[in-house]
Amino acid sequence: MAAFLRRVKGGFQRFLERPATVDLSHYDKVLKSIAWRESRVEKLTDEELTAATAELRRSDEDTGKAFDDTEIVQLCALGREAARRGLSERPFDVQLIGMMELLAGHVVQMATGEGKTLAGALAAAGYALQGHPVHVMTVNDYLAQRDAEWMRPVYALLGVTVGWVNQTSTREERRAAYAADITYGSVSEIGFDVLRDRLCTSADGPDGPVQDEPGVVLIDEADSVLVDEARVPLVMAGSTADHQTDPEVAKIVRVLQPGTHYQRDEDGRNAWLTERGAQVVEKALGGIDLYSGEHSDRLAAVNAALHAHALLERDIDYIVRDGKVHLINTSRGRIALLQRWPDGLQAAVEAKERLAPTESGEVLDSITVQGLVGRYPIVCGMTGTAVAVSEQLREFYQLRVAVIPPNTPCIREDEPDRIYATESTKDAAIIAEIVATHATGRPILIGTADVAESERMAGKLAEADVPCVVLNAKNDAQEAAIVAEAGAFGAVTVSTQMAGRGTDIRLGGKDSADHEKVAELGGLYVIGTGRYPSSRLDDQLRGRAGRQGDPGGSVIFAALSDELVQVYAPDATAGDEPDEDGRLIDPTSRRFIEHAQRVSEGVHLEVHRNTWRYTRLIEHQRGVLLEYRNELIGTDLAETELASISGDRWSDLTETLDDAVLEDVARTIMLYHLDRCWTEHLAFLSDVRETIHLRALARETPIDEFHRAAIPAFKKIPDEVAARSAETLETATITEAGVDMETAGLMRPTSTWTYMVHDSPFDTDAEQALQRVRAMLKKVKGSRRR
Ligand code: ADP
Ligand code: MG
Repeated sequence: MAAFLRRVKGGFQRFLERPATVDLSHYDKVLKSIAWRESRVEKLTDEELTAATAELRRSDEDTGKAFDDTEIVQLCALGREAARRGLSERPFDVQLIGMMELLAGHVVQMATGEGKTLAGALAAAGYALQGHPVHVMTVNDYLAQRDAEWMRPVYALLGVTVGWVNQTSTREERRAAYAADITYGSVSEIGFDVLRDRLCTSADGPDGPVQDEPGVVLIDEADSVLVDEARVPLVMAGSTADHQTDPEVAKIVRVLQPGTHYQRDEDGRNAWLTERGAQVVEKALGGIDLYSGEHSDRLAAVNAALHAHALLERDIDYIVRDGKVHLINTSRGRIALLQRWPDGLQAAVEAKERLAPTESGEVLDSITVQGLVGRYPIVCGMTGTAVAVSEQLREFYQLRVAVIPPNTPCIREDEPDRIYATESTKDAAIIAEIVATHATGRPILIGTADVAESERMAGKLAEADVPCVVLNAKNDAQEAAIVAEAGAFGAVTVSTQMAGRGTDIRLGGKDSADHEKVAELGGLYVIGTGRYPSSRLDDQLRGRAGRQGDPGGSVIFAALSDELVQVYAPDATAGDEPDEDGRLIDPTSRRFIEHAQRVSEGVHLEVHRNTWRYTRLIEHQRGVLLEYRNELIGTDLAETELASISGDRWSDLTETLDDAVLEDVARTIMLYHLDRCWTEHLAFLSDVRETIHLRALARETPIDEFHRAAIPAFKKIPDEVAARSAETLETATITEAGVDMETAGLMRPTSTWTYMVHDSPFDTDAEQALQRVRAMLKKVKGSRRR
């Protein structure tokens, strides 16, 4: 019923406002009041300023209550003054509007360089004063630390504490950081802590969780996190003794030939065995029927090996260094340190490269970025590009977008795409443009699709005698330093995607020394070497120029032979002959480029939707399980359960053992089996997921089939836990020292580790989505023809 009402309400809202943006017109009055308050607040000493802020802090009874208008005005005035004193930066009106919209729980769109870090910090302080624990999520560790330390003086004046976590933080440091009013951390670190806390066996103390209950999350670069990375699962794995990779399968697959034994789809995302290939494999495995239910393990292993063999290429998808496979994150264009493929595929690639298998372990728990964000009762965020994803933000997170105007109007000149027939004519034109512009000293930022292209560009520039810096550093801090200098006189910077880089580019270099000189040349000139998979990513790139009213310009060079066009608009043809430089100026070519980008956007959305259909169920189950688990930790549930199932044994034990010991024994046993069952459940689900499209075939839609398998399996868990726990209680050695789990063969993992799963070609969703979107478009075309 509630869900129904929400849907109706959602539909109604959609009807009322379109796009999903909020109205800012009422802020004039508020800003006047703030300015008036500011004149008073200015006169306060630092101590008085802190004391005045403390008056806004909610008491225990009022925790979480939003601020009324007077309080908001006071908070803005105090925050503005604290920033002026702490950073020598007086927040602009637009920053205060941004802050208030964040406090209203929206995603604010503010252009690059408008000062979102500060606006976000003031909002975080506001939420903290309301009594919410606040997490500020950044895209990487470097930014978490940078922003927390940068804003610290402002927080100090406001009497609010701040902490940060990064990959190297110890458990104690984490606990201290999360105990602060406001905690900065990258998405992955905060997520990994959620996963690690899930394994805690006590409610507090050193074995207890490091995080409190989730309160508010404020997400920087919100579109990157909420849309681009939403599907990424964060995984915690544990080592166990008995895992097997299948070197045998790798050997079998190695000799298979494309065309004869397997087929590959044109965009290299999927591969499958032909009838003949399947026969070869089945024979080599001893004449089994690969597609029967009992061999689903083998089928998964064969699939993984085939993907590793047919689709993943060394030095493009991954590199081998120090005897290990390192993934290349193709969208960000750098080595993905924390990432690996799903276990089966990782092992298959290791087997393909004849490397020793890394510990693959078992997945103990996992949560997607979207699921992680969904835990917070209050979500807000900021980014330079939110409007383009406003539909998704509403669909997946029930979030609305507030568009904050820039402090100084943007005067950047965005030229329409220059389109070429082929890659070589496009490249020649790009180099010519760079050479001509560089001769004037105007700084140039070149956005490329991936590492390979950035290096190709750098090579061509070297041939043309243009010195350049290539942004593919493996270190975020170094990367930020390079970006900061990209606006210097004469700078030429070649970069992969700019989204989520979090450093703004000042004209005339980091210290703005040559600002005037560079401004006279037209400011930063941004050149894209092709359209990105979404127009939002193009906007992120363009947005690096023209910051805070600076002059600037941008242009994208595209070609009909670009991968984006080839994959998403394969029948693209020029409407006219190219001119002598290979340039196309006909409207048809332009339409094909735009069409390809739109199809690509549609595919990504479909994939997101589809993955969410699967993960939503798992995440719901995870929540239910967690509640049960917390009950085991926090109440006497474990005792009551075991006393009721194994009455005799239980009463025997009560005669010889202390109550406290017995309580602990019951809890230890039940938690062990609960965690064990969840691990097994996750393994089962991932198996179902990986083979479902093969098994379901035409009978059912995969998602229904998935639900049909997942729901009953989950429902069995409580009984299974009870039965296994009863057995342990009956058979294990139980003394004053507790229960001897080790001798009973019930060991918790000796080591755990965390990683993010790389968006893998294993993913059949993308392929299916592409087919669907293409089919849809074909239908449209077909009906038009008629
Ligand atoms: P964004 O995240 O919106 O791209 P940042 O928060 O990185 O922008 O800020 C960009 C730059 O603007 C920083 O160097 C910051 O010091 C500066 N800045 C922010 N707010 C102000 C202000 N009110 N007055 C002057 N400079 C500011
Ligand atoms: Mg920023």
